[in-house]
Amino acid sequence: MIPFSPPRIDDHTIAEVVAALKSGWITTGPRTKQFEKEITDYCQAKTTVCVSSWTMGMQVLLHWWGVGEGDEVIVPCYTYCASGNVVLHSGAKLVLVDVGGDFNIDVDAVAAAITDRTKVIMPVDIGGLPCDYDALYAAISDKQNLFKPNNELQKQLNRILLVADAAHSFGAIYKDKISGALADISVFSFHAVKNLTTAEGGAIVFNLPTGFNHEEIYQHFCTLILHGQSKDALAKTKAGGWKYDVLAPGFKCNMTDLQAAIGLVELNRYADNLVRRRQIMEFYLDFFKAYDWAILPQIKSVNKTSAFHLCLLRISGISEVERDAIITEINTLGVAVNVHFQPLPLLTAYKSIGYDIADYPNAYLAYANEISLPVYYDLTDEQLQIIGDAVVSAYQKVRNEKVF
Ligand SMILES: *Cc1c(COP(=O)(O)O)cnc(C)c1O
Repeated sequence: MIPFSPPRIDDHTIAEVVAALKSGWITTGPRTKQFEKEITDYCQAKTTVCVSSWTMGMQVLLHWWGVGEGDEVIVPCYTYCASGNVVLHSGAKLVLVDVGGDFNIDVDAVAAAITDRTKVIMPVDIGGLPCDYDALYAAISDKQNLFKPNNELQKQLNRILLVADAAHSFGAIYKDKISGALADISVFSFHAVKNLTTAEGGAIVFNLPTGFNHEEIYQHFCTLILHGQSKDALAKTKAGGWKYDVLAPGFKCNMTDLQAAIGLVELNRYADNLVRRRQIMEFYLDFFKAYDWAILPQIKSVNKTSAFHLCLLRISGISEVERDAIITEINTLGVAVNVHFQPLPLLTAYKSIGYDIADYPNAYLAYANEISLPVYYDLTDEQLQIIGDAVVSAYQKVRNEKVF
């Protein structure tokens, strides 16, 4: 079976993790600090806090920004459940909006959904293609007169906060800026299946306007992700360092140096990773040109370059049931594929609190005929050919069994 998205683990990765183990320091320490600095540089952003996952990073971020009951957060319905779950946990109202033809949030739908309770807009760069950030900022500025700040931070910004769910877009480019510097704050995921992995992990990358003290924000987050303790484990090992205080209850979601050791290796070779991912996407684009039923995702435009995270193939003219049959057939031919994503209103947790897929026609159409193909550094050219052929034979087999 050709797997869908195995992590890239080689002797180099293993050696760095072993070095971290042998250093005697395995929780948050020098490697995590180094990883944070290198991410800030790579993203041309202002500061970075590494965390145990995207999910916990976003949860702490919403808490810090004071998002809760009575507030609204706008999220596209076409995303992984994490994007919606964190909003539900915050106590704010989750305002789901539909997507456009590129799988990304529909900016007109965002503009229409903004109210005087909206505190955060959370676009998702699906598959690695950045959303239209200029249009999102324009929508926020058009509705600035509605904005009602609830605390000092919100007063300082004096508009809706734009937070990117950048789980797919590490390294993507929008108008000469790199993901991490596109929104006010971006949260990355380093989960095992993502472009850059630390097994599990994430990073909050800050790019707030001038006037925000990013060094203070960084220090504050270091305590927020460690129970609110005024000293981290490393500081407590220093002479006389045993005493600390807790000013407010925090969370526990720091990154360990074992994770950062993997991340440092991954970041160091990330340029090669992107080159290979681009080649793979270009292979698929070229391969499927011969088939008029295959709709390939956009990977580049005048303003955008993808991070090539997912190949979201759509097959025109098929139903959801036929799509599922094609997937089963592809699996039989020894290839693992996936579907990104089941729109949140299709999931029981969201259905049961009133979201209805009928309100999100574009998302349903995109989902119903979507099949994600494998994209990862270690895929060989021979495997790409096998995958392409498997998709074509599976399509033909299902088509011959039933006229669409
Ligand atoms: C993977 C993913 C997340 C969650 O990341 P974790 O690090 O697993 O918490 C959030 N949003 C999207 C779009 C994702 O694909």
